[in-house]
Amino acid sequence: MSVNDLPKGNQKRKVLICLLRLDLRIHDNPLFHYAHVASHQDLTDSADNYNSEKSHDEDTLASTADYLMPVYVFDEREIELSGLPDYQRKGPEARTQVYGFWKTGGFRARFISESVYDLRLRLREAGSDLLIRFGRPEDVVENLVKGFKEQGDEVEGVWMQKEMTFQEIQVEGEIADRLKRTNTPLRFVHGKTLIHPSDLPFEIADTPDVFTPFRKRVETLGPRMVRPSLAAPSTFKAFPPKVPSIPDYALDVSYEVDVDGLSSRVPESQEKTEGQISFHDILRGLLRPLNDTALPYSLEGSALLQQRHSGSAFPLRGGESSALERLEWYFVRGKSADSSRWGKADPPPVARYKQTRNNLIGHAYSTKMSPFLAYGSISPRVIWEALNAHERKFGEDQNTYWVRFELLWRDYFFFVAEKFGDLLFDIGGYEKATDPRQAEKKMQPGWWKMWDPVKDGADHHITRLLEGRTGIPFIDANILELRESGFMSNRGRQNVASFLSKDLGYDWRIGAEFFQSHLIDYDPTSNYGNWQYVAGVGNDPRASRQFNCIKQAKDYDSHGEYVKMWIPALRNLPVDILHTPWLMDADERRRYGLKTTTMDVTMDAYPMKPIIESESWRKHYDRKEGVGSKMYGNPQEKVKDGKVKRYKKPGQARPHGYGGPPQYYGATDYVSASASTYGPTASYGMPASGNERERNVIPPLRGIRGSIGPGASHVPLRTGSPGSNSGYATPTNNNRGSGRGFVGGVLGGAASTFSNNAPSQLSAADRETSWRRGGGGGNGNHEGNGGGNNGNGRS
Ligand SMILES: Cc1cc2nc3c(=O)[nH]c(=O)nc-3n(C[C@H](O)[C@H](O)[C@H](O)COP(=O)(O)OP(=O)(O)OC[C@H]3O[C@@H](n4cnc5c(N)ncnc54)[C@H](O)[C@@H]3O)c2cc1C
Repeated sequence: MSVNDLPKGNQKRKVLICLLRLDLRIHDNPLFHYAHVASHQDLTDSADNYNSEKSHDEDTLASTADYLMPVYVFDEREIELSGLPDYQRKGPEARTQVYGFWKTGGFRARFISESVYDLRLRLREAGSDLLIRFGRPEDVVENLVKGFKEQGDEVEGVWMQKEMTFQEIQVEGEIADRLKRTNTPLRFVHGKTLIHPSDLPFEIADTPDVFTPFRKRVETLGPRMVRPSLAAPSTFKAFPPKVPSIPDYALDVSYEVDVDGLSSRVPESQEKTEGQISFHDILRGLLRPLNDTALPYSLEGSALLQQRHSGSAFPLRGGESSALERLEWYFVRGKSADSSRWGKADPPPVARYKQTRNNLIGHAYSTKMSPFLAYGSISPRVIWEALNAHERKFGEDQNTYWVRFELLWRDYFFFVAEKFGDLLFDIGGYEKATDPRQAEKKMQPGWWKMWDPVKDGADHHITRLLEGRTGIPFIDANILELRESGFMSNRGRQNVASFLSKDLGYDWRIGAEFFQSHLIDYDPTSNYGNWQYVAGVGNDPRASRQFNCIKQAKDYDSHGEYVKMWIPALRNLPVDILHTPWLMDADERRRYGLKTTTMDVTMDAYPMKPIIESESWRKHYDRKEGVGSKMYGNPQEKVKDGKVKRYKKPGQARPHGYGGPPQYYGATDYVSASASTYGPTASYGMPASGNERERNVIPPLRGIRGSIGPGASHVPLRTGSPGSNSGYATPTNNNRGSGRGFVGGVLGGAASTFSNNAPSQLSAADRETSWRRGGGGGNGNHEGNGGGNNGNGRS
């Protein structure tokens, strides 16, 4: 539509409002796609004519609106807003249901803000804009609708993506009620899952209770399992020229922040006009309450958020631009920036996925798509298409299959959550529905130990676990990684979850809520679904399986690099004793410079005794460095009909992108080492405020309350000099284009010029899945292969 087509003078203008929540992207976003479809008669795009057995909401979705208004509301129930200037909360603090953690911790607050600002920038580049508000989406939407009507405009409707979990569904219900009162249609789209719900070969209520039967049934759909991604408009309908003023809380966020500014390396411009608020002002407001409150659990301070740990496995900023760039790098481009080298000689990291996915260090060992998927900055279908593109160039093998397999796990947790509703958050889990007798047993008092975050002291097992000072290095390292970077590997998550729920026997929801607070990639169905699975109340057919954390440490950190990275006090220990430091006598501790402490973790002190010691651990105590390592793949893991290719035996060269062994804690900057090969998106973090390591002021991580109480300062166990991020390339407008070139160019086979409708330019071949069925029986290595105390369970 050109400007000339827009209504003039007193003509009534028709506005379509699109409320964005967990779909912060332009590409493959049904909202934006259908907003630019005037009539379904005209449709030619194969995606729209997808011949599903069942009808779906989008079948009749079309818009003749003159204006499109994308809106994002920071929802006070999900993210604490009381630190914003003069914000008056309408309801309680944004805390988790049972244990009262902040729902959105600092790293995720930052990630969300980055994603929202990036979306706004991309919309602006496409001729639109994004209205950003704070409060409750239902209030904002209702007031906008009223406001438009009062100023004489017509509101065609409000559209939003359908979500599947409690809080989100409640918001949908609230919006529906409000809109009914104003006679405004509310329409939903499905853009969340890989498989469109209408294409499932069963009703959602009949979703199998175990993953493998689910997978096998959906795989019978073959190439029709995943729809092609939807074209994005090359130019968006105009943003309404006059946005009604509404009574809701508002900040003047009109301050232009270029997406590069989000890297926070660029100082805030001095050109802000009075009243304007910048990205960093907002971030400060979001972080303030996390630091100020005395109750319970605020582990990150804003100081920490100025810079992630230099070893973070997720050094990427939030947003669609970052997601697409990562996609290109991981699936297509690889190390080389030189497109002539994007051949078999230099395959991108996905070619080693199966081998590296259980690694713990560096950003390259797995796709790192999860945070982008959680906020919808990338569409799972576009990842699927990137896999197709990769396979056409490099061939299919277990690596690509395995990524698809994991994406199906994500879908599975969504559909199962929809089937079982609020049991997702219930201590009895899905088992209450699938095996009520077993569930009954586990509901008896005493089955799960409980924890009181206010009354239980600093030496309580759970407090020590959540602070990373159990005295079991592999567990503590994982917790410290989460706290100091917002990310933890899948391997780490499984071990921590098993330790909390099985070894210690505590209510699994403590861990689920703690992860909810801290993970950048928090997603309700994947998080609670996985916690249930590991705790034995969910979809694991072998509910009693338990990870042996010492065996796991020796399997997956067989050279001790990971533990040394996150627990500097242990840096001088020989690897053979590193995972069991309690076996050392006083002389040995002295020799390795380890201070005696009962439970503190500092730069040179680590607890002398673990909080528990399991009999089953002992047989692994003597295992020597490197023996039985599974760091570069687990030979037991095989997809039955997959082709085992590029499978390196232990002892062979490390895979590319691994980042190299740490010479010394803090001395090797993993992120920059790999990031320099990665490119612009990796840029992250403000300059460090100081070098704690040099100043040697890493105080103990005391009780969480101690660390946040008045006057207490939590200084994170963080190393790396201010210059340690120097390997990052500072993004520029020019190199920003490379991410765009991927979708518009590499996958589409076209020139590398960016287009906002990027994935729409995918060639037919890219869109058509070449993926054959994973096939046949077996293939259950995610659900088998090991079990017992091997910890070789799923994933
Ligand atoms: C206790 C526990 C809690 C978890 N909480 C979350 C969570 O809140 N959000 C989240 O996205 N994932 C969660 N996971 C799953 C998994 O750990 C992460 O998806 C994965 O580590 C993210 O890294 P990646 O994107 O590099 O994954 P990759 O290994 O590259 O996998 C590709 C994609 O497949 C999906 N996937 C992989 N493994 C799983 C899985 N086990 N379950 C569901 N989807 C999976 C993710 O979308 C991921 O991005 C949890 C796992 C456990 C054991």
